Amino acid sequence: MKRNSIIFLALILLSYMNTAIAKTTGASDDARFNAFKERWALDLWAVYPGWASSVGYHKYDSKLVIPDDKSRARELAFCKTGLDSLKKFTISALSDANKTDYHLIENQLKSAEWGIQQQKAYQWDPSGYNVCSSFADMLGNDYAPVDERLRNFYIRMDAIPAYYKAAASNIKDPTAEHTALAIEQNLGGISVFEQDLPEALGKCHLDKAEQDAITARAKVAVAAIKAYTEWLKGLKNDHPRSFRLGKELYDAKFAYDIQSGYTAEEIYHKALQHKDDLHKQMYEITTQLWPKYFSAAPMPTDHLTAIRQMIDTLSRKHVEADSFQAAISAQIPVLEAFIKNKDLIYIDPSKPLVVRKEPAYMAGVAGASITSPGPYDKNGNTYYNVGSLSGWDKQKAESYLREYNHYILQILNIHEAIPGHYTQLVYANRSPSIIKAILGNNAMIEGWAVYTERMMLENGYDGDQGINSTHASPEMWLMYYKWNLRSTCNTILDYSVHTKNMSKEDAMDLLVRQAFQQQAEAEGKWKRVSVTQVQLDCYFTGYTEIYDLRQQLKVKMGSSFNLKQFHEKFLSYGSAPVKYIKELMLSDSK
Ligand code: ZN
Ligand code: ZN
Repeated sequence: MKRNSIIFLALILLSYMNTAIAKTTGASDDARFNAFKERWALDLWAVYPGWASSVGYHKYDSKLVIPDDKSRARELAFCKTGLDSLKKFTISALSDANKTDYHLIENQLKSAEWGIQQQKAYQWDPSGYNVCSSFADMLGNDYAPVDERLRNFYIRMDAIPAYYKAAASNIKDPTAEHTALAIEQNLGGISVFEQDLPEALGKCHLDKAEQDAITARAKVAVAAIKAYTEWLKGLKNDHPRSFRLGKELYDAKFAYDIQSGYTAEEIYHKALQHKDDLHKQMYEITTQLWPKYFSAAPMPTDHLTAIRQMIDTLSRKHVEADSFQAAISAQIPVLEAFIKNKDLIYIDPSKPLVVRKEPAYMAGVAGASITSPGPYDKNGNTYYNVGSLSGWDKQKAESYLREYNHYILQILNIHEAIPGHYTQLVYANRSPSIIKAILGNNAMIEGWAVYTERMMLENGYDGDQGINSTHASPEMWLMYYKWNLRSTCNTILDYSVHTKNMSKEDAMDLLVRQAFQQQAEAEGKWKRVSVTQVQLDCYFTGYTEIYDLRQQLKVKMGSSFNLKQFHEKFLSYGSAPVKYIKELMLSDSK
Protein backbone atom coordinates (compact mmCIF):
# COMPACT_ATOMS: atom_id res chain seq x y z
CA MET A 1 0.00 0.00 0.00
CA LYS A 2 2.64 2.43 1.09
CA ARG A 3 4.96 1.34 -1.64
CA ASN A 4 2.24 1.72 -4.23
CA SER A 5 1.47 5.26 -3.26
CA ILE A 6 5.13 6.13 -3.44
CA ILE A 7 5.30 4.70 -6.93
CA PHE A 8 2.14 6.59 -7.80
CA LEU A 9 3.62 9.78 -6.46
CA ALA A 10 6.82 9.13 -8.36
CA LEU A 11 4.84 8.63 -11.54
CA ILE A 12 2.98 11.87 -11.07
CA LEU A 13 6.24 13.62 -10.38
CA LEU A 14 7.84 12.06 -13.41
CA SER A 15 5.02 13.03 -15.70
CA TYR A 16 5.06 16.52 -14.26
CA MET A 17 8.78 16.75 -14.89
CA ASN A 18 8.32 15.48 -18.41
CA THR A 19 5.82 18.22 -19.19
CA ALA A 20 8.13 20.75 -17.61
CA ILE A 21 11.03 19.55 -19.75
CA ALA A 22 8.87 19.50 -22.86
CA LYS A 23 7.81 23.06 -22.11
CA THR A 24 11.34 24.33 -21.72
CA THR A 25 12.52 22.58 -24.90
CA GLY A 26 9.55 24.07 -26.75
CA ALA A 27 10.34 27.53 -25.48
CA SER A 28 14.04 27.12 -25.94
CA ASP A 29 13.81 26.92 -29.74
CA ASP A 30 12.59 30.49 -29.76
CA ALA A 31 14.85 31.51 -26.89
CA ARG A 32 17.84 30.07 -28.72
CA PHE A 33 16.81 31.73 -31.95
CA ASN A 34 16.31 35.08 -30.22
CA ALA A 35 19.81 34.87 -28.81
CA PHE A 36 21.17 33.84 -32.20
CA LYS A 37 19.62 36.73 -34.10
CA GLU A 38 20.79 39.33 -31.58
CA ARG A 39 24.34 38.00 -31.95
CA TRP A 40 24.01 37.72 -35.69
CA ALA A 41 23.00 41.37 -36.06
CA LEU A 42 26.09 42.45 -34.12
CA ASP A 43 28.32 40.26 -36.31
CA LEU A 44 26.63 41.72 -39.37
CA TRP A 45 27.67 45.22 -38.32
CA ALA A 46 31.27 44.17 -37.90
CA VAL A 47 31.28 42.92 -41.52
CA TYR A 48 29.31 45.90 -42.88
CA PRO A 49 30.32 48.95 -40.79
CA GLY A 50 28.95 51.44 -43.33
CA TRP A 51 25.53 49.81 -43.24
CA ALA A 52 25.71 49.82 -39.43
CA SER A 53 26.30 53.58 -39.31
CA SER A 54 23.44 54.16 -41.73
CA VAL A 55 20.93 52.45 -39.39
CA GLY A 56 22.22 54.31 -36.34
CA TYR A 57 24.67 51.75 -34.94
CA HIS A 58 27.78 53.88 -34.53
CA LYS A 59 30.36 51.56 -33.03
CA TYR A 60 32.23 51.20 -36.33
CA ASP A 61 31.99 54.78 -37.57
CA SER A 62 35.75 55.08 -37.96
CA LYS A 63 35.96 52.03 -40.24
CA LEU A 64 35.95 52.06 -44.01
CA VAL A 65 36.08 48.61 -45.62
CA ILE A 66 38.57 48.32 -48.49
CA PRO A 67 36.64 46.47 -51.23
CA ASP A 68 39.31 43.88 -52.03
CA ASP A 69 39.56 40.06 -52.19
CA LYS A 70 40.19 39.96 -48.47
CA SER A 71 36.98 41.74 -47.53
CA ARG A 72 34.98 39.69 -50.01
CA ALA A 73 36.40 36.51 -48.49
CA ARG A 74 35.41 37.78 -45.07
CA GLU A 75 31.89 38.48 -46.28
CA LEU A 76 31.59 35.00 -47.79
CA ALA A 77 32.82 33.42 -44.57
CA PHE A 78 30.21 35.38 -42.64
CA CYS A 79 27.51 34.09 -45.01
CA LYS A 80 28.67 30.50 -44.68
CA THR A 81 28.82 30.63 -40.88
CA GLY A 82 25.37 32.22 -40.72
CA LEU A 83 23.79 29.67 -43.06
CA ASP A 84 25.39 26.84 -41.06
CA SER A 85 23.99 28.28 -37.83
CA LEU A 86 20.50 28.51 -39.33
CA LYS A 87 20.59 24.78 -40.07
CA LYS A 88 20.62 24.13 -36.33
CA PHE A 89 17.05 25.42 -36.04
CA THR A 90 13.82 23.74 -37.06
CA ILE A 91 11.66 26.40 -38.68
CA SER A 92 8.38 24.71 -37.73
CA ALA A 93 9.32 24.87 -34.04
CA LEU A 94 9.69 28.67 -34.12
CA SER A 95 7.08 31.35 -33.47
CA ASP A 96 5.56 33.11 -36.49
CA ALA A 97 7.72 36.18 -35.86
CA ASN A 98 10.87 34.06 -35.73
CA LYS A 99 9.86 32.00 -38.77
CA THR A 100 9.79 35.14 -40.87
CA ASP A 101 13.01 36.43 -39.31
CA TYR A 102 14.65 33.11 -40.17
CA HIS A 103 13.63 33.50 -43.82
CA LEU A 104 14.88 37.09 -43.93
CA ILE A 105 18.29 36.19 -42.51
CA GLU A 106 18.66 33.21 -44.82
CA ASN A 107 17.70 35.32 -47.82
CA GLN A 108 20.15 38.07 -46.87
CA LEU A 109 23.03 35.61 -46.60
CA LYS A 110 22.25 33.74 -49.81
CA SER A 111 21.74 37.01 -51.63
CA ALA A 112 25.13 38.36 -50.48
CA GLU A 113 26.83 35.15 -51.61
CA TRP A 114 25.09 35.34 -54.96
CA GLY A 115 26.10 38.97 -55.35
CA ILE A 116 29.79 38.17 -54.97
CA GLN A 117 29.86 34.86 -56.81
CA GLN A 118 27.31 35.33 -59.60
CA GLN A 119 26.20 38.90 -60.14
CA LYS A 120 29.68 40.36 -59.65
CA ALA A 121 28.53 43.98 -59.81
CA TYR A 122 31.78 44.86 -58.04
CA GLN A 123 33.47 44.23 -61.38
CA TRP A 124 31.14 46.00 -63.79
CA ASP A 125 29.49 48.76 -61.76
CA PRO A 126 32.00 51.55 -60.98
CA SER A 127 29.23 53.60 -59.31
CA GLY A 128 29.15 51.05 -56.52
CA TYR A 129 32.30 52.78 -55.27
CA ASN A 130 31.50 56.06 -53.64
CA VAL A 131 32.36 57.11 -50.10
CA CYS A 132 30.81 60.57 -50.22
CA SER A 133 27.29 60.02 -48.90
CA SER A 134 28.44 57.98 -45.91
CA PHE A 135 30.88 60.77 -44.97
CA ALA A 136 28.09 63.33 -45.51
CA ASP A 137 25.91 61.42 -43.01
CA MET A 138 28.62 61.74 -40.38
CA LEU A 139 28.45 65.52 -40.70
CA GLY A 140 24.74 65.92 -41.32
CA ASN A 141 23.27 63.81 -38.51
CA ASP A 142 23.96 64.96 -34.98
CA TYR A 143 23.77 61.57 -33.25
CA ALA A 144 26.97 62.43 -31.32
CA PRO A 145 28.90 65.61 -30.45
CA VAL A 146 30.50 67.18 -33.51
CA ASP A 147 34.05 66.70 -32.12
CA GLU A 148 33.51 62.98 -31.76
CA ARG A 149 32.03 62.70 -35.24
CA LEU A 150 34.95 64.66 -36.72
CA ARG A 151 37.51 62.43 -35.04
CA ASN A 152 35.86 59.34 -36.54
CA PHE A 153 35.62 61.17 -39.85
CA TYR A 154 39.37 61.77 -39.71
CA ILE A 155 40.29 58.17 -38.95
CA ARG A 156 37.90 56.87 -41.58
CA MET A 157 39.28 59.19 -44.29
CA ASP A 158 42.66 57.52 -43.98
CA ALA A 159 41.40 54.51 -45.94
CA ILE A 160 39.99 56.48 -48.87
CA PRO A 161 43.04 56.24 -51.19
CA ALA A 162 43.28 52.47 -50.62
CA TYR A 163 39.54 52.19 -51.13
CA TYR A 164 39.64 53.72 -54.61
CA LYS A 165 42.79 51.82 -55.51
CA ALA A 166 41.01 48.55 -54.73
CA ALA A 167 37.96 49.77 -56.68
CA ALA A 168 40.05 50.39 -59.78
CA SER A 169 41.67 46.99 -59.60
CA ASN A 170 38.26 45.28 -59.29
CA ILE A 171 36.80 46.90 -62.39
CA LYS A 172 36.66 44.86 -65.56
CA ASP A 173 34.62 45.67 -68.71
CA PRO A 174 32.28 48.04 -66.87
CA THR A 175 29.04 49.24 -68.44
CA ALA A 176 29.20 52.67 -70.06
CA GLU A 177 26.11 53.80 -68.08
CA HIS A 178 27.50 52.89 -64.67
CA THR A 179 30.86 54.39 -65.59
CA ALA A 180 29.24 57.72 -66.45
CA LEU A 181 27.17 57.58 -63.27
CA ALA A 182 30.24 56.85 -61.16
CA ILE A 183 32.04 59.89 -62.55
CA GLU A 184 29.02 62.15 -62.07
CA GLN A 185 28.21 61.00 -58.53
CA ASN A 186 31.77 60.88 -57.21
CA LEU A 187 32.57 64.35 -58.52
CA GLY A 188 29.26 65.62 -57.14
CA GLY A 189 30.07 64.14 -53.75
CA ILE A 190 33.39 65.96 -53.35
CA SER A 191 31.50 68.94 -51.89
CA VAL A 192 31.27 66.93 -48.66
CA PHE A 193 35.00 67.39 -48.17
CA GLU A 194 35.30 70.84 -49.70
CA GLN A 195 32.17 72.55 -48.26
CA ASP A 196 30.40 70.52 -45.56
CA LEU A 197 33.63 69.65 -43.77
CA PRO A 198 34.94 73.25 -43.38
CA GLU A 199 31.47 74.20 -42.11
CA ALA A 200 31.52 71.45 -39.50
CA LEU A 201 35.07 72.43 -38.48
CA GLY A 202 33.76 75.94 -37.88
CA LYS A 203 31.34 74.57 -35.29
CA CYS A 204 33.74 72.22 -33.49
CA HIS A 205 35.97 72.64 -30.44
CA LEU A 206 39.04 70.78 -31.71
CA ASP A 207 42.36 72.60 -31.45
CA LYS A 208 44.03 74.06 -34.50
CA ALA A 209 46.57 71.26 -34.94
CA GLU A 210 43.81 68.66 -35.04
CA GLN A 211 41.74 70.74 -37.43
CA ASP A 212 44.72 71.22 -39.73
CA ALA A 213 45.35 67.50 -39.79
CA ILE A 214 41.72 66.88 -40.80
CA THR A 215 41.91 69.49 -43.56
CA ALA A 216 45.15 68.03 -44.89
CA ARG A 217 43.74 64.51 -44.97
CA ALA A 218 40.58 65.74 -46.71
CA LYS A 219 42.79 67.10 -49.51
CA VAL A 220 44.33 63.66 -49.97
CA ALA A 221 40.83 62.13 -50.00
CA VAL A 222 39.62 64.54 -52.67
CA ALA A 223 42.70 63.82 -54.77
CA ALA A 224 41.94 60.08 -54.55
CA ILE A 225 38.32 60.59 -55.63
CA LYS A 226 39.38 62.80 -58.54
CA ALA A 227 42.05 60.31 -59.56
CA TYR A 228 39.41 57.57 -59.65
CA THR A 229 37.12 59.60 -61.91
CA GLU A 230 40.06 60.55 -64.16
CA TRP A 231 41.03 56.90 -64.37
CA LEU A 232 37.45 55.99 -65.35
CA LYS A 233 37.35 58.73 -67.99
CA GLY A 234 40.54 57.44 -69.56
CA LEU A 235 39.69 53.76 -69.24
CA LYS A 236 40.14 51.82 -72.45
CA ASN A 237 36.93 49.82 -72.42
CA ASP A 238 36.74 47.86 -75.67
CA HIS A 239 34.20 45.31 -74.48
CA PRO A 240 31.86 47.13 -72.12
CA ARG A 241 29.28 44.93 -70.49
CA SER A 242 25.67 45.73 -71.37
CA PHE A 243 23.72 47.53 -68.66
CA ARG A 244 20.96 45.00 -69.29
CA LEU A 245 21.23 42.32 -66.65
CA GLY A 246 20.02 39.39 -68.78
CA LYS A 247 17.29 36.92 -67.88
CA GLU A 248 19.27 34.49 -65.76
CA LEU A 249 20.73 37.08 -63.39
CA TYR A 250 17.52 39.07 -63.42
CA ASP A 251 15.37 36.13 -62.30
CA ALA A 252 17.75 35.42 -59.44
CA LYS A 253 17.97 39.05 -58.37
CA PHE A 254 14.20 39.31 -58.46
CA ALA A 255 13.91 36.25 -56.22
CA TYR A 256 16.39 37.66 -53.66
CA ASP A 257 15.31 41.29 -53.67
CA ILE A 258 11.55 40.90 -53.92
CA GLN A 259 11.07 37.49 -52.25
CA SER A 260 7.79 37.05 -54.07
CA GLY A 261 5.66 33.94 -54.44
CA TYR A 262 5.68 34.71 -58.17
CA THR A 263 8.58 34.56 -60.61
CA ALA A 264 9.69 37.72 -62.41
CA GLU A 265 8.13 36.44 -65.62
CA GLU A 266 4.77 35.73 -63.95
CA ILE A 267 4.69 39.23 -62.51
CA TYR A 268 5.60 40.68 -65.91
CA HIS A 269 2.62 38.92 -67.51
CA LYS A 270 0.33 40.04 -64.71
CA ALA A 271 1.49 43.62 -65.25
CA LEU A 272 0.79 43.43 -69.00
CA GLN A 273 -2.71 42.13 -68.30
CA HIS A 274 -3.27 44.79 -65.65
CA LYS A 275 -2.21 47.55 -68.04
CA ASP A 276 -4.85 46.41 -70.54
CA ASP A 277 -7.51 46.29 -67.82
CA LEU A 278 -6.60 49.79 -66.67
CA HIS A 279 -6.78 51.14 -70.23
CA LYS A 280 -10.26 49.65 -70.65
CA GLN A 281 -11.54 51.17 -67.43
CA MET A 282 -9.94 54.52 -68.20
CA TYR A 283 -11.57 54.62 -71.61
CA GLU A 284 -14.98 53.88 -70.12
CA ILE A 285 -14.66 56.73 -67.64
CA THR A 286 -13.36 59.09 -70.33
CA THR A 287 -16.40 58.33 -72.46
CA GLN A 288 -18.67 58.93 -69.49
CA LEU A 289 -17.02 62.24 -68.53
CA TRP A 290 -16.49 63.60 -72.05
CA PRO A 291 -19.71 65.66 -72.37
CA LYS A 292 -19.15 67.19 -68.92
CA TYR A 293 -15.72 68.58 -69.82
CA PHE A 294 -15.81 68.94 -73.62
CA SER A 295 -19.55 69.36 -74.28
CA ALA A 296 -20.17 68.90 -77.99
CA ALA A 297 -16.52 68.60 -79.09
CA PRO A 298 -15.95 65.21 -80.70
CA MET A 299 -13.94 62.65 -78.76
CA PRO A 300 -10.74 61.44 -80.51
CA THR A 301 -11.20 58.00 -82.01
CA ASP A 302 -7.88 56.76 -80.66
CA HIS A 303 -8.60 55.57 -77.12
CA LEU A 304 -5.28 56.56 -75.59
CA THR A 305 -5.43 60.03 -77.14
CA ALA A 306 -8.91 60.58 -75.70
CA ILE A 307 -7.84 59.40 -72.23
CA ARG A 308 -4.82 61.68 -72.34
CA GLN A 309 -6.94 64.73 -73.15
CA MET A 310 -9.22 63.97 -70.24
CA ILE A 311 -6.27 63.50 -67.86
CA ASP A 312 -4.68 66.76 -69.01
CA THR A 313 -7.93 68.60 -68.39
CA LEU A 314 -8.49 67.12 -64.93
CA SER A 315 -4.87 67.85 -63.98
CA ARG A 316 -5.55 71.57 -64.18
CA LYS A 317 -7.48 71.29 -60.95
CA HIS A 318 -4.77 71.74 -58.37
CA VAL A 319 -3.88 73.76 -55.29
CA GLU A 320 -1.68 76.84 -55.65
CA ALA A 321 2.01 76.66 -54.77
CA ASP A 322 1.68 78.58 -51.52
CA SER A 323 -1.10 76.33 -50.17
CA PHE A 324 0.54 73.03 -51.10
CA GLN A 325 1.71 72.17 -47.58
CA ALA A 326 -1.54 73.32 -45.96
CA ALA A 327 -3.60 71.19 -48.35
CA ILE A 328 -1.62 68.06 -47.50
CA SER A 329 -1.83 68.67 -43.75
CA ALA A 330 -5.58 69.32 -43.90
CA GLN A 331 -6.24 65.93 -45.48
CA ILE A 332 -4.74 63.82 -42.68
CA PRO A 333 -7.62 64.20 -40.18
CA VAL A 334 -10.15 63.59 -42.98
CA LEU A 335 -8.44 60.32 -43.92
CA GLU A 336 -8.38 59.24 -40.29
CA ALA A 337 -12.04 60.05 -39.72
CA PHE A 338 -13.05 58.25 -42.91
CA ILE A 339 -11.18 55.09 -41.91
CA LYS A 340 -12.77 55.13 -38.47
CA ASN A 341 -16.19 55.76 -39.91
CA LYS A 342 -15.87 52.86 -42.34
CA ASP A 343 -14.16 50.58 -39.83
CA LEU A 344 -11.29 49.77 -42.20
CA ILE A 345 -8.42 49.41 -39.74
CA TYR A 346 -7.66 50.41 -36.16
CA ILE A 347 -5.46 53.48 -35.94
CA ASP A 348 -3.65 53.87 -32.65
CA PRO A 349 -4.60 57.33 -31.31
CA SER A 350 -1.56 57.38 -29.01
CA LYS A 351 0.77 57.50 -32.02
CA PRO A 352 -0.37 60.58 -33.93
CA LEU A 353 1.43 61.45 -37.10
CA VAL A 354 3.72 64.47 -36.66
CA VAL A 355 3.33 66.59 -39.76
CA ARG A 356 6.20 69.01 -40.29
CA LYS A 357 7.64 71.21 -42.96
CA GLU A 358 10.40 69.46 -44.87
CA PRO A 359 13.70 70.06 -43.04
CA ALA A 360 16.36 72.08 -44.87
CA TYR A 361 18.57 69.11 -45.80
CA MET A 362 15.67 67.58 -47.76
CA ALA A 363 14.77 70.78 -49.53
CA GLY A 364 14.09 70.58 -53.21
CA VAL A 365 12.32 67.24 -52.97
CA ALA A 366 8.73 68.49 -52.93
CA GLY A 367 5.88 66.13 -52.24
CA ALA A 368 5.76 64.23 -49.01
CA SER A 369 7.69 61.47 -47.31
CA ILE A 370 7.85 59.57 -44.04
CA THR A 371 11.02 59.63 -41.92
CA SER A 372 11.12 57.03 -39.19
CA PRO A 373 13.78 56.56 -36.54
CA GLY A 374 16.31 53.78 -37.16
CA PRO A 375 16.23 50.55 -35.15
CA TYR A 376 18.88 51.87 -32.76
CA ASP A 377 17.28 55.27 -32.31
CA LYS A 378 14.50 54.30 -29.92
CA ASN A 379 13.46 57.81 -28.88
CA GLY A 380 13.28 59.26 -32.35
CA ASN A 381 10.06 60.67 -33.78
CA THR A 382 8.35 59.62 -36.96
CA TYR A 383 7.66 62.59 -39.19
CA TYR A 384 5.56 63.29 -42.21
CA ASN A 385 7.75 65.70 -44.16
CA VAL A 386 5.78 67.93 -46.45
CA GLY A 387 7.76 69.78 -49.08
CA SER A 388 7.38 73.38 -50.05
CA LEU A 389 7.45 74.83 -53.53
CA SER A 390 8.69 78.21 -52.40
CA GLY A 391 11.44 79.56 -54.59
CA TRP A 392 10.47 77.37 -57.55
CA ASP A 393 10.11 79.12 -60.89
CA LYS A 394 6.55 79.42 -62.11
CA GLN A 395 6.76 76.93 -64.95
CA LYS A 396 8.39 74.22 -62.88
CA ALA A 397 5.88 74.73 -60.07
CA GLU A 398 2.92 74.61 -62.45
CA SER A 399 4.07 71.37 -64.04
CA TYR A 400 4.66 69.86 -60.61
CA LEU A 401 1.26 70.96 -59.32
CA ARG A 402 -0.44 69.45 -62.36
CA GLU A 403 1.35 66.19 -61.69
CA TYR A 404 0.30 66.30 -58.00
CA ASN A 405 -3.11 67.69 -58.81
CA HIS A 406 -6.25 67.75 -56.67
CA TYR A 407 -6.86 64.02 -57.12
CA ILE A 408 -3.34 62.64 -57.06
CA LEU A 409 -2.48 64.61 -53.93
CA GLN A 410 -5.14 62.64 -52.06
CA ILE A 411 -3.73 59.37 -53.32
CA LEU A 412 -0.24 60.47 -52.32
CA ASN A 413 -1.47 61.07 -48.77
CA ILE A 414 -3.10 57.64 -48.63
CA HIS A 415 0.15 56.07 -49.87
CA GLU A 416 2.63 57.93 -47.69
CA ALA A 417 0.62 58.49 -44.54
CA ILE A 418 -2.73 56.97 -43.67
CA PRO A 419 -3.42 54.09 -44.04
CA GLY A 420 -0.25 53.57 -46.14
CA HIS A 421 3.36 53.76 -44.96
CA TYR A 422 2.73 55.47 -41.65
CA THR A 423 0.04 53.07 -40.49
CA GLN A 424 2.12 50.07 -41.56
CA LEU A 425 5.03 51.42 -39.57
CA VAL A 426 2.96 51.81 -36.40
CA TYR A 427 1.86 48.18 -36.69
CA ALA A 428 5.38 46.98 -37.48
CA ASN A 429 6.70 48.70 -34.36
CA ARG A 430 4.30 46.76 -32.17
CA SER A 431 6.26 43.56 -32.62
CA PRO A 432 9.75 45.01 -32.72
CA SER A 433 12.25 42.79 -34.47
CA ILE A 434 15.73 44.04 -35.14
CA ILE A 435 15.83 41.68 -38.14
CA LYS A 436 12.70 43.14 -39.75
CA ALA A 437 13.90 46.65 -38.95
CA ILE A 438 17.09 46.10 -40.95
CA LEU A 439 16.01 43.48 -43.51
CA GLY A 440 12.34 44.42 -43.88
CA ASN A 441 10.86 43.44 -47.21
CA ASN A 442 10.47 46.42 -49.50
CA ALA A 443 7.90 44.78 -51.75
CA MET A 444 5.66 44.22 -48.73
CA ILE A 445 6.16 47.79 -47.52
CA GLU A 446 5.55 49.43 -50.91
CA GLY A 447 2.92 46.85 -51.84
CA TRP A 448 0.90 47.74 -48.74
CA ALA A 449 0.99 51.46 -49.56
CA VAL A 450 -0.09 50.80 -53.15
CA TYR A 451 -2.77 48.35 -51.99
CA THR A 452 -4.31 50.91 -49.62
CA GLU A 453 -4.76 53.42 -52.48
CA ARG A 454 -7.16 51.07 -54.23
CA MET A 455 -8.74 49.83 -51.01
CA MET A 456 -9.64 53.37 -49.97
CA LEU A 457 -11.26 54.15 -53.31
CA GLU A 458 -13.13 50.85 -53.29
CA ASN A 459 -14.59 51.92 -49.97
CA GLY A 460 -15.69 55.22 -51.41
CA TYR A 461 -12.97 57.63 -50.33
CA ASP A 462 -13.16 60.98 -52.08
CA GLY A 463 -11.94 64.10 -50.34
CA ASP A 464 -14.60 66.21 -52.06
CA GLN A 465 -17.41 64.23 -50.49
CA GLY A 466 -16.36 64.10 -46.86
CA ILE A 467 -16.14 61.21 -44.45
CA ASN A 468 -19.50 59.65 -45.32
CA SER A 469 -18.67 59.31 -49.00
CA THR A 470 -19.76 55.96 -50.43
CA HIS A 471 -18.50 56.28 -54.00
CA ALA A 472 -15.37 57.95 -55.26
CA SER A 473 -16.08 60.18 -58.26
CA PRO A 474 -15.23 59.00 -61.81
CA GLU A 475 -12.59 61.77 -61.91
CA MET A 476 -10.96 60.34 -58.81
CA TRP A 477 -10.96 56.84 -60.27
CA LEU A 478 -9.53 57.97 -63.60
CA MET A 479 -6.65 59.76 -61.92
CA TYR A 480 -6.08 56.82 -59.59
CA TYR A 481 -5.85 54.50 -62.59
CA LYS A 482 -3.27 56.80 -64.14
CA TRP A 483 -1.27 56.69 -60.90
CA ASN A 484 -1.59 52.90 -60.69
CA LEU A 485 -0.50 52.63 -64.30
CA ARG A 486 2.83 54.12 -63.26
CA SER A 487 3.82 51.25 -60.95
CA THR A 488 2.37 48.75 -63.42
CA CYS A 489 4.48 50.13 -66.27
CA ASN A 490 7.54 50.37 -64.01
CA THR A 491 7.43 46.59 -63.80
CA ILE A 492 6.86 46.10 -67.52
CA LEU A 493 9.71 48.50 -68.27
CA ASP A 494 12.20 46.96 -65.87
CA TYR A 495 11.59 43.40 -66.99
CA SER A 496 11.51 44.28 -70.69
CA VAL A 497 14.66 46.38 -70.60
CA HIS A 498 16.73 43.88 -68.64
CA THR A 499 15.54 40.60 -70.12
CA LYS A 500 13.93 41.45 -73.46
CA ASN A 501 16.25 44.05 -74.90
CA MET A 502 13.56 46.75 -75.03
CA SER A 503 14.79 49.81 -76.94
CA LYS A 504 14.69 53.33 -75.55
CA GLU A 505 12.18 54.25 -78.24
CA ASP A 506 9.79 51.51 -77.14
CA ALA A 507 10.33 52.42 -73.51
CA MET A 508 9.36 56.02 -74.23
CA ASP A 509 6.26 54.85 -76.06
CA LEU A 510 5.29 52.72 -73.06
CA LEU A 511 5.76 55.53 -70.57
CA VAL A 512 4.58 58.56 -72.53
CA ARG A 513 1.84 57.28 -74.83
CA GLN A 514 0.59 54.26 -72.88
CA ALA A 515 1.13 55.51 -69.30
CA PHE A 516 0.41 59.21 -69.99
CA GLN A 517 3.65 60.50 -68.47
CA GLN A 518 5.48 63.72 -69.29
CA GLN A 519 8.56 63.40 -71.49
CA ALA A 520 10.84 64.58 -68.66
CA GLU A 521 9.50 62.01 -66.22
CA ALA A 522 9.92 59.26 -68.80
CA GLU A 523 13.51 60.32 -69.57
CA GLY A 524 14.29 60.19 -65.86
CA LYS A 525 12.80 56.71 -65.66
CA TRP A 526 14.91 55.52 -68.58
CA LYS A 527 18.03 56.76 -66.84
CA ARG A 528 16.99 54.99 -63.66
CA VAL A 529 16.25 51.66 -65.35
CA SER A 530 19.62 51.73 -67.08
CA VAL A 531 21.51 51.88 -63.77
CA THR A 532 19.24 49.83 -61.48
CA GLN A 533 17.63 46.43 -61.78
CA VAL A 534 14.53 44.90 -60.13
CA GLN A 535 14.05 47.92 -57.80
CA LEU A 536 11.16 49.21 -59.93
CA ASP A 537 9.27 45.92 -59.53
CA CYS A 538 8.58 46.14 -55.82
CA TYR A 539 5.45 48.34 -55.98
CA PHE A 540 3.41 46.32 -58.43
CA THR A 541 4.59 42.94 -57.15
CA GLY A 542 3.76 43.65 -53.52
CA TYR A 543 0.42 45.19 -54.46
CA THR A 544 -0.52 42.20 -56.62
CA GLU A 545 0.42 39.69 -53.97
CA ILE A 546 -1.55 41.45 -51.23
CA TYR A 547 -4.57 41.89 -53.45
CA ASP A 548 -4.44 38.25 -54.56
CA LEU A 549 -4.11 37.09 -50.96
CA ARG A 550 -7.18 39.10 -50.00
CA GLN A 551 -9.17 37.54 -52.85
CA GLN A 552 -8.02 34.08 -51.84
CA LEU A 553 -9.04 34.61 -48.22
CA LYS A 554 -12.41 36.04 -49.24
CA VAL A 555 -13.16 32.90 -51.21
CA LYS A 556 -11.89 30.64 -48.47
CA MET A 557 -13.62 32.34 -45.54
CA GLY A 558 -16.85 33.28 -47.27
CA SER A 559 -19.17 35.31 -45.06
CA SER A 560 -16.76 35.22 -42.12
CA PHE A 561 -14.24 37.36 -44.04
CA ASN A 562 -13.85 40.79 -42.44
CA LEU A 563 -11.83 43.54 -44.11
CA LYS A 564 -10.72 45.24 -40.90
CA GLN A 565 -9.55 41.94 -39.42
CA PHE A 566 -7.72 41.12 -42.64
CA HIS A 567 -5.81 44.41 -42.54
CA GLU A 568 -4.87 44.17 -38.88
CA LYS A 569 -3.85 40.53 -39.10
CA PHE A 570 -1.82 41.15 -42.25
CA LEU A 571 0.11 44.02 -40.68
CA SER A 572 0.67 42.16 -37.41
CA TYR A 573 3.43 40.07 -39.04
CA GLY A 574 5.64 43.12 -39.54
CA SER A 575 7.59 43.89 -42.73
CA ALA A 576 7.90 40.27 -43.83
CA PRO A 577 7.68 39.09 -47.45
CA VAL A 578 4.04 38.66 -48.50
CA LYS A 579 4.56 35.01 -49.47
CA TYR A 580 5.39 34.09 -45.86
CA ILE A 581 2.57 36.18 -44.42
CA LYS A 582 0.31 34.40 -46.88
CA GLU A 583 1.48 30.98 -45.71
CA LEU A 584 0.83 31.91 -42.06
CA MET A 585 -2.53 33.57 -42.73
CA LEU A 586 -3.84 30.73 -44.86
CA SER A 587 -2.88 28.10 -42.31
CA ASP A 588 -4.47 30.23 -39.57
CA SER A 589 -7.76 30.60 -41.40
CA LYS A 590 -8.35 26.83 -41.55
ZN1 ZN B 1 -2.41 75.60 -62.91
ZN1 ZN C 1 6.00 54.25 -51.02
